Amino acid sequence: MTKSDPSGARLGRLNTAHGAVDTPVFIPVGTAATVKGLPQAALEALGVQILLANTYHLYLRPGHELIRRMGGLHRFMSWKNAILTDSGGYQVFSLADLRKMTDEGVRFRSHLDGSEHLLTPEKAAEIQLALGSDIAMVLDECIETPAPRAAAEEALRRTTEWARRSRRYCQEYASRNGEIAQLQFGIVQGATFADLRRESAQQLVDLHFAGYAVGGLAVGEPHELTCEMTSEVTALLPNDRPRYLMGVGKPEDLADYVSRGIDMMDCVLPTRAARHGCLYTSQGRVLIRNVRYAEDPRPIDENCTCEVCARYSRAYLRHLYLAGELLSAILNTHHNVRFYAELMRRIREAIAAGKLVQFAGALREQLVGAPA
Ligand SMILES: [Zn+2]
Repeated sequence: MTKSDPSGARLGRLNTAHGAVDTPVFIPVGTAATVKGLPQAALEALGVQILLANTYHLYLRPGHELIRRMGGLHRFMSWKNAILTDSGGYQVFSLADLRKMTDEGVRFRSHLDGSEHLLTPEKAAEIQLALGSDIAMVLDECIETPAPRAAAEEALRRTTEWARRSRRYCQEYASRNGEIAQLQFGIVQGATFADLRRESAQQLVDLHFAGYAVGGLAVGEPHELTCEMTSEVTALLPNDRPRYLMGVGKPEDLADYVSRGIDMMDCVLPTRAARHGCLYTSQGRVLIRNVRYAEDPRPIDENCTCEVCARYSRAYLRHLYLAGELLSAILNTHHNVRFYAELMRRIREAIAAGKLVQFAGALREQLVGAPA
């Protein structure tokens, strides 16, 4: 961390085995070792310093052992910057069939071919070591929200126990094979119960992770509650470790999370929305299929300096979208990834100037036209 804002926002630099990442950062999602629609060279040109890849998808296809044999994920996908992998747990809970949870792990059937698998904390760590990501997440138990307190307590107990086993697995691996460059992050759970969030954070801090994530938030609860729970957690985390709020968020919310002491965020929103013709602009969202853009010669966003906005009109982009052309997804994704990258650059600028809170308020007003 190099500077903090009166709000609690932090400006920093996260050093990984594949370069430094300026924080706070928004991490684009490259589910199956690709950000859908954007070649790696385009991501580099957009200044992307870190990508997220999904362990569940890569484990099932093409398989982590194949990726290991191909020299690891960086070489396999030809990406020289940092990669963060999740544990696979979230996709098991959301995509796979026949999940059976025990203290040992979670048994599931592949959504691709129905084959049966057991994901344990040790297995999740092993797969991520084979992939060779720069940042690995521990397996945690994701529960549905709103959760009754008893379910949240049970998930918290299991999450801490799994975090302990994950930590032990990596420490033993390192003692056998020499020090590993991969940074392992713990994940704080506890649903929307402040005391459980604090308990979870404290238990994980005692395990000395390289960084800490906040999981299970922004899953339908009010935005204020997400922010409140985030603050409860970040207040207890060590200052010199990165904090990562998983699975967020909407452009108008990003500065709020950063002001709660968050350094890293990821979400499929900008890339998935792009493929559905939803474009983010400095004036709010543009749904490109709308008939009002049929003969609109303006770029998506007159304040955007991306190559899509420099070259193409809304009318053309609408036509590509309605015609189901491949180029539609490519151009839309390019613009949205750029929009998020630029937004994060402005957030870092605001922290440097000590004005993040004012920036966050102005941003929300500009993007959604009303205070939260
Ligand atoms: Zn643009």
